[in-house]
Amino acid sequence: MDDGTEGHSTIWSRLCRLFGHDNQESLEKAIVEAREDGEVEPDEESMLLGILRFDGLQVQDTMTPRTDIDCVSDDIPLKEVARVIVRSGHSRIPVFKETRDNIVGILHAKDVLSSLLDHEGDAPSVASVMREPFFVPETKSIRTLLQEFRASKQHIAIALDEYGGTSGLITIEDVLEEIVGDIEDEHDAPREEDIRSVGEGVYELTGRAMLEDLKELGINLNSDEVDTIGGYLSMEAGHVPEKDEQFTLQGWIFTVLEADRKLIQKLRMEPADHETLLPEEAAAGA
Ligand code: ADP
Repeated sequence: MDDGTEGHSTIWSRLCRLFGHDNQESLEKAIVEAREDGEVEPDEESMLLGILRFDGLQVQDTMTPRTDIDCVSDDIPLKEVARVIVRSGHSRIPVFKETRDNIVGILHAKDVLSSLLDHEGDAPSVASVMREPFFVPETKSIRTLLQEFRASKQHIAIALDEYGGTSGLITIEDVLEEIVGDIEDEHDAPREEDIRSVGEGVYELTGRAMLEDLKELGINLNSDEVDTIGGYLSMEAGHVPEKDEQFTLQGWIFTVLEADRKLIQKLRMEPADHETLLPEEAAAGA
């Protein structure tokens, strides 16, 4: 089976030769140094590092998770699907039967539009317009997926977990972004920043802020099971924490600001020894 190793080794050995290094770590260091010395531009540096790290990435590392998939049930009218396309801004909408774990097709915006125009009075069913989904295991390497996307001329796949349930959705854009960074298209809604400084030492986080990114603030929360702060606190609590629940971890207080039954949406993070003085109180020496 062609897993792309051959093409990879060519790029790999070319980069190694170019920078005169023979293992990934020293090659990464050499690229960073080359940028520091002005031999490589910052965007070239991030692309080169993206290519090096690309190899270790799996579908689950870059997919849109199951809970964020905009999808429709197979029994809704096609006109409703058009509304979902407009509202979500996505041009391909997965179709499920009974539960999200059972994706049975993908609706493409242009197929939906032409069907609605061709059959003004009695639009055809979702099932007659949808296309076969392309399923991949969530553990597939994105390098292999990229080749499969190109060979099959597909641009979207549904990722499955080990039990055959839906784990997420991945498009060619997600894969390419690992090399070239965020690609904003004209329909992308601006995404709320996951970590936002709101005062000295105080941060507002979304539940999906990555544990990895919190390391930059000196907070080392490690877990094999979860990647996000929302997931971490739910795991600590043994339930999805409610609004106003607090956690003290590594000298920081995490306060839940917004949550629903399934997810923490927003939280505040501040140092445990933080004196919460209003600026006027501080100025008055309170
Ligand atoms: P589109 O332009 O239709 O959104 P892209 O391939 O440009 O499709 O994907 C942009 C981002 O949107 C990717 O992160 C992808 O995972 C995500 N995405 C695409 N389709 C959906 C969908 N139906 N529901 C949720 N996210 C989606």
